[in-house]
Amino acid sequence: MQDQPRHETTTTERGSFALARCSCGWTGPARRSRDRARTDAAAHMAPPRESDSVMSPGRF
Ligand SMILES: [Zn+2]
Repeated sequence: MQDQPRHETTTTERGSFALARCSCGWTGPARRSRDRARTDAAAHMAPPRESDSVMSPGRF
């Protein structure tokens, strides 16, 4: 079972800026370099762990 949406990131250029886009609808901030946009895409695909804080009944 695949519970997570698929994340396929691409980099788009807009004028002199580059930004990352994802198939899930996410769009990164405009960057001056495509390399930077790729970093945003990588960060989007590997977000920091914080999903545990949502559902934890034994917390407190
Ligand atoms: Zn995504």
